[in-house]
Amino acid sequence: MTIDNFKFAGKKAIVRVDFNVPLNEEGKITDDTRIRGALPTLKKVLADGGALIIMSHMGKPKGKVNAKYSLSQIVDAVSEKLGVAVQFAPDCAKAAEAAAALKPGEVLMLENLRFYPEEEGKPVGIDKEDPAYNDAKKAMKESQKEFSKTLASYADCYINDAFGTAHRRHASTAVIADYFDADNKMLGYLMEKEVQAVDNILKDIKRPFTAIMGGSKVSTKIGIIENLMDKVDNLILCGGMTYTFAKAQGGEIGRSIVEDDKLDLALNIIEQAKAKGVNLVLAQDCVAADDFSNDANTQVCSAKAIPAGWEGLDAGPEAQKAFAAAIVDAKTILWNGPAGVFEFDNFTAGSRAIAEAIAKATANGAFSLIGGGDSVACINKFGMADQVSYISTGGGALLEAIEGKVLPGVAAIKGE
Ligand code: AMP
Repeated sequence: MTIDNFKFAGKKAIVRVDFNVPLNEEGKITDDTRIRGALPTLKKVLADGGALIIMSHMGKPKGKVNAKYSLSQIVDAVSEKLGVAVQFAPDCAKAAEAAAALKPGEVLMLENLRFYPEEEGKPVGIDKEDPAYNDAKKAMKESQKEFSKTLASYADCYINDAFGTAHRRHASTAVIADYFDADNKMLGYLMEKEVQAVDNILKDIKRPFTAIMGGSKVSTKIGIIENLMDKVDNLILCGGMTYTFAKAQGGEIGRSIVEDDKLDLALNIIEQAKAKGVNLVLAQDCVAADDFSNDANTQVCSAKAIPAGWEGLDAGPEAQKAFAAAIVDAKTILWNGPAGVFEFDNFTAGSRAIAEAIAKATANGAFSLIGGGDSVACINKFGMADQVSYISTGGGALLEAIEGKVLPGVAAIKGE
């Protein structure tokens, strides 16, 4: 079923959203992007004469009630954005009465799902090494089903609009879908957009396709790099990864970040790129610093000849040119991870060169997808969010989708 085809009039919809928003010490929301992201879906149900039961997690309360992570703190903000006074159910597993009383146009928000260990389905208070762990896990899976069934009982239909948790098989993101037939469960608009954006990158590729992978480590990106190797024309590997590649090729990298156990892997990636005809772009020069700080002294040097005691914190001018050259003519672009320590204003040039080239290519008709927390933070820092095609709300979920893994939250609705 799709959200545009379902008849919500007189029906109750339980919607999994990602309202895991950052709060300051006074419990005020500091970034409401995620709430805004879910509004089209929520407003659609209300406009069609349905009632809403909104459910989400917030933070990591680890299966225990913790006022710090109470969703009651965001009820006013959600009410204001929806234009409806949102009711609150202080116990998500005991909300049957409140849900039953909902009239068309009304909204009930459930307390943080993760106050119950059943949401994540992991046994708590027992070590993985404990001989009783497997039994505890089995028992937890059973109570997770019961918990999911309870949530499902509140509504006539289920919508998943929480892309950020779509890579988890949790009660509210996947198991609950078992209690609705195919005609009564659907993806929300945000999820549909995210899934479409990933399809553009993985299935409907317009060439050339350039992927830019940055960030601190090769190890956390290797799955995606290997998956992309079969698809891309240009692969830019930048950021902290640069120095693992430089060292693997016999370079001197000073105190730069490096994964010494990944040197062979780096050489293997270089070989794979050659064998597959992928244009692998690694930074030839870098901005090295004598301290890990914004005010450090700097010098531009070869990424393979960094003086002892210095560390590469950003891509150098030659690298920036090479990155831009591999991006500007691309028709499909994926960017995950910064090219330097962009949190320090003096080491943003590499990431900025990438962002600018992406903006140019996008203006020329490329589809550009930016995802993963840090590159999104980066593009926002440069004020360029409106110059790219799509910014994903998913960190881990996006990366797993691009690795080619089936997301349980999507599969639970659309099938494998
Ligand atoms: P990741 O979480 O792996 O995507 O890495 C993102 C982090 O990588 C950001 O916080 C950057 O500051 C960091 N990073 C990027 N380039 C470097 C570098 N050359 N040295 C150290 N950290 C870096």
